[in-house]
Amino acid sequence: MLISERINSIKSDIPDSVKLVAVSKTQPNSIVMEAYNAGQRIFGENKVQDLTQKHDALPKDIEWHFIGHLQKNKVKYIAPFVSLIHGVDSLKLLSVINKEGLKSGRNIPCLLQVKIAKEDSKFGMDETELEQLLLSDDFKSFENITVRGLMGMATYADDVSIIRGEFQKLNTIFKRIRNENFSDDENFSELSMGMSGDYRIAIEEGATLVRIGSSIFGERNYSKQ
Ligand SMILES: *Cc1c(COP(=O)(O)O)cnc(C)c1O
Repeated sequence: MLISERINSIKSDIPDSVKLVAVSKTQPNSIVMEAYNAGQRIFGENKVQDLTQKHDALPKDIEWHFIGHLQKNKVKYIAPFVSLIHGVDSLKLLSVINKEGLKSGRNIPCLLQVKIAKEDSKFGMDETELEQLLLSDDFKSFENITVRGLMGMATYADDVSIIRGEFQKLNTIFKRIRNENFSDDENFSELSMGMSGDYRIAIEEGATLVRIGSSIFGERNYSKQ
């Protein structure tokens, strides 16, 4: 199947209210352009260098999302243009993003990453850390970031009930935080969860953003990078 056909079939599979982030990591610009020409405008990358290179080279109406683990010393490279940072997992990182937002004269949209999977390899805060961050004076002083919602990654498992349970847990946390910490802030509205293997479950459990790579572009070949 062509990339355009894959995109159209995924789009017909997800409700209009759910945004598709095409995860273009490891894909060359020519392949990203195939998706662009099929109408796709939101792309996700997990390496700062690839994100800046693609942003420089590709059409300016693309919304670039950063979906990986962001190092504090690299925030400055993406701050001038990034549309959404999905995986913010500490107050320190948020503080650096706020500082770089100020320097760029921007307000940078962010999602806070919550650890829902059992695997140690997954980043993110637990509920207590999340609450401490949101209640801190530092957080309340930030004027160059906007927290748009939460992001999470489920365990790599064949057992659908494990994945569904983790997404349900994230949605429960999302709703509680929205009621308790953002009741007068309509910006807090996004729940980023679901990848190629589990996006249908994620949407059933309340995702508003799905991050899909291999179902659009095929299996990644890291050696070609
Ligand atoms: C690579 C990646 C994805 C996309 O994964 P696929 O299984 O290829 O759809 C989604 N989210 C994050 C954070 C990723 O790193």
